[in-house]
Amino acid sequence: MTATADLTLNRARLADGRLVSIDIFGGRIAAVRPAGDPVQRGRELDLNGQLVLPGLTDGHVHLDKTLMAMPWRPHRSAPSIRARIDDEKKHRRDNPASLEERGAQMLLETALRLGTTSLRTHVDIDEVTKLDTLKELLELRERWADRVQIQIVAFPQSGVVTCPVAAEYLQEALRMGADFIGGLDPVGIDGDQKGQLDIIFGLAERYGRGLDIHLHDGGEIGLAEIDDIVARTSAAGLEGRTTISHAFALADAAPARLDATATALREAKVSILSSIPGGDRCPPIPKLRELGVDVFFGSDNIRDCWNPSSVIGMIDRAMLATYRFGLRRDEDIAALLDHVTTIPARLAGLGDGAIREGARADLIAFEATHLPQVVVERQVPNVVIARGAIIYC
Ligand SMILES: [Zn+2]
Repeated sequence: MTATADLTLNRARLADGRLVSIDIFGGRIAAVRPAGDPVQRGRELDLNGQLVLPGLTDGHVHLDKTLMAMPWRPHRSAPSIRARIDDEKKHRRDNPASLEERGAQMLLETALRLGTTSLRTHVDIDEVTKLDTLKELLELRERWADRVQIQIVAFPQSGVVTCPVAAEYLQEALRMGADFIGGLDPVGIDGDQKGQLDIIFGLAERYGRGLDIHLHDGGEIGLAEIDDIVARTSAAGLEGRTTISHAFALADAAPARLDATATALREAKVSILSSIPGGDRCPPIPKLRELGVDVFFGSDNIRDCWNPSSVIGMIDRAMLATYRFGLRRDEDIAALLDHVTTIPARLAGLGDGAIREGARADLIAFEATHLPQVVVERQVPNVVIARGAIIYC
């Protein structure tokens, strides 16, 4: 390079063990050079052999649902998803508060501290929130643009067919700047698989957007919905732009059915998002990986009305997968980091997921020599750099 770097990270250890210097210019990686290769430099930071990873991606957040900044609210177990929707609506009506008052900003700060530099958030669009929360979220995204890349999914939390205003608001949400159109259990919530999918795929095609559909429906009903979503994705030419979040039904599929569904998902380039839930509803991530299905990880519920299990950092999320699937070999544990870096980068443009010339300078450094060590020790990064700026050091 000829220009002086804005920042050079010296003695940075890459995942393959090499020690390098990383030059950053204009918020991007300008060069990755062997350590000790002298060039004209600006500001320098000696990482002293710390392991450097690209910034992490949280593929599924609800920045509008967290109550992190509000007084503790005991979790109220509800017997169904519809009951939880009603519980949250009541809470919102009884406790009006801005996104910031509820804790969206606090969640972003905490996630960034833990190394998350890109995320996809869903935002409720229904007769309670209307488009007000989306407006706040678009402003929040603007304020955070130099630190965290945020994709927004217009999420019909109260259903599409059963919430008559939803379709109209969803359309307006896409016009306002939402990146993806969401969906929710076409059978379980709307009782009308065709009705909901006709509307959301219609909007996706009309506005040229991808889809990210919450699917909790289990068993053969859920698997049939997956088949339908896959077929519609191919028919609409939306390969690579559709995500099914949760996809609990995959946990219920017999081996032959799982193989067939995985083949269809892979061929239509429909990705699966998992928060690695407990209980018996977690899709078989290692098997899906083996079958070539793109899976990325997300945090989903962070101190909200939905689930008391709150895990914000994506290194901790990788540990949940390690624990959940009983992984023991270094290469299997290290591979989990693909699901929060390279895979979401490739399939959703979330982060660049790589340390290479031209990539966004979103970098995090750990006191470790090997990738699985970061997960096993559930490390918090010592250094967080976003768009070339040192956020924590
Ligand atoms: Zn969700």
